[in-house]
Amino acid sequence: MAARRSPAQAQAQAQAHAQAPTLRFRPLPAAISALTMAAGLLCGSALVSPALAQTAPSAAAQPQANTADTALHAQIETRAKAAEARLIAWRRDIHQHPELGNYEVRTAKLVADHLRKLGMEVKTGVAKTGVVGLLKGGKPGPVVALRADMDALPVKERVDVPFASKAKGKYLGKEVDVMHACGHDTHVAILMATAEVLAGMKDQLPGTVKFIFQPAEESPADIEPDGTNIWGARQMVAEGVLENPKVDAIFGLHVSSGIESGKLAWRSGPAMAAADQFWIDVKGRQTHGARPWGGIDPIVVSSQIVLGLQTIQSRQVNAMLEPSVITVGTIHGGNRMNIVPEKVEMMGTIRTYDEGMKKDIHARMKRTTESIAASSGAEATFRVVELYNATVNQPALTEKMAPTLKRVAGDGNWMLAPKATASEDFSFYQEKVPGLFFNLGVTPKGTDVTKAPSNHSPEFYVDEPALINGVRALSNLTVDYMTMAQR
Ligand SMILES: [Zn+2]
Ligand SMILES: [Zn+2]
Repeated sequence: MAARRSPAQAQAQAQAHAQAPTLRFRPLPAAISALTMAAGLLCGSALVSPALAQTAPSAAAQPQANTADTALHAQIETRAKAAEARLIAWRRDIHQHPELGNYEVRTAKLVADHLRKLGMEVKTGVAKTGVVGLLKGGKPGPVVALRADMDALPVKERVDVPFASKAKGKYLGKEVDVMHACGHDTHVAILMATAEVLAGMKDQLPGTVKFIFQPAEESPADIEPDGTNIWGARQMVAEGVLENPKVDAIFGLHVSSGIESGKLAWRSGPAMAAADQFWIDVKGRQTHGARPWGGIDPIVVSSQIVLGLQTIQSRQVNAMLEPSVITVGTIHGGNRMNIVPEKVEMMGTIRTYDEGMKKDIHARMKRTTESIAASSGAEATFRVVELYNATVNQPALTEKMAPTLKRVAGDGNWMLAPKATASEDFSFYQEKVPGLFFNLGVTPKGTDVTKAPSNHSPEFYVDEPALINGVRALSNLTVDYMTMAQR
């Protein structure tokens, strides 16, 4: 288990991160075949490990808030408060009617109707069910994008609330129970309320706001990721969501069970991991289990490969530079106790934070797999699909906007987040434009956050009074970014 760091250490580490050069290890010389992307899942779960989270330094050590127009700040407070009851009603409505990735039809209509009512230019059907609203401020200025994801998960809800989900959906052709177990219902409601707040003061806004409501963050429920198809944020970017008008900066948030209600948490640089999926097929030669020398045993070879892969992280890459995880999640082979089977199939996940390190790990995995198999006379193939890239908060933008988040959260109500091994497709926006992704705590005060059911759990619970802080944070980030651009 990782040691607990002091806030000063955490800060120093975050700063060191921002300054670290990109290439921080020696890559394997062997080239690896071009491996494509796509294939879905995740985000969310245990976005912030509570055991590692740091409490904010004392108020005295904090920088003062940005000097953006305090009248606009005051308006945000009033308007957010006025929208809070609707925010919670939307959240409950969406929670009760969750929809899986690429099927967010009802949610998208709710969003589009709302944005139109606010007088925005609205585009629907982006990346299947995505909705984009454009709010042009009364004064010229930068384009700020705000993003919410709309999809739910194939989970059967076990939370005892009157608006608990009883919804069913189709996940890759099979009927499943559906629940907003990652809290994307709150993201939609928060962004709808933020739209209301900012639309109410649009004449005074020095810039344009692009509201991005995106489908399928967790993965599409209608197509199986195969390494060639794309969806969600990546598809929205491909369809030009960051262009016309061109986005200057993007902000997004995720609710987290690992943080106390209403608290904000973020970090500069790599914040959430890249996620890749891999497949290993080991081909041996079938024979009688009592006479293994008559064949080639793919089960023993696979066992060696599983252990060999674990030496990449522990013995081969520099563990001090960036963490990484290789997990073999499935292993299938054989159908009878006394037959050495012909083949074994394995699948797993890789988590990394640095693009170069990721490619290096892929190459080492391929080498380990093939070489171990060859040592026994078996044949093995290694295939990897890059699902999500690392979520990297641009250091300059993070530094610029941190005072805003600290001011919104208030003293003692924010923290520097540790890295999360979960992944987020917000990364695909951040690859194109400077972006900042932060967490909002939703576990009721007085509850032990280390024991709260995590995102993706059927018991994932959201403390609704926290949600207004999401609206306040996104609205203030927008206004402060625009105001700072005027100087
Ligand atoms: Zn999730
Ligand atoms: Zn999520």
